[in-house]
Amino acid sequence: MARSPAPAFAEARTRASTSCPCGSARALAACCGRWHAGPQQLQAPDAAELMRSRYSAFVLGLTDYLRRTWHPSTCPDDLTLDPAVHWLGLQVRAARTLAPDRAEVEFVARSRLAGRGHRLHETSCFVFEDADGSGARWWYVDGTLHAGG
Ligand SMILES: [Zn+2]
Repeated sequence: MARSPAPAFAEARTRASTSCPCGSARALAACCGRWHAGPQQLQAPDAAELMRSRYSAFVLGLTDYLRRTWHPSTCPDDLTLDPAVHWLGLQVRAARTLAPDRAEVEFVARSRLAGRGHRLHETSCFVFEDADGSGARWWYVDGTLHAGG
């Protein structure tokens, strides 16, 4: 990642202004934006969609959305995002349904901080439940990092 050529970054930045940050090639309003705000807010239909929308929320700095989709049992008190982190892209590797109310999503998220590329390879766990009294929906619980990126 650290050696990615400059034109790739320029292209990614241009696409980000019109396409959803999650890399779906759809417009933000027709993709993760639906779950961030509006009549379908917080209604991501499955764990993979929620995962994508949370990545987009990281890119867009939507800490409120991150908190409202992070299970209360594991959500950190301090959710301040580092504005110096530049998110470069998301790749969803696999989405597995473990039970009707449990799923996991394996992904790689690439970012850049202070000129250094970083690759986050994680398997995230999600549950479908009514964790805040507003009706059952998908929640991010926690994640397991894959060693060696
Ligand atoms: Zn999206």
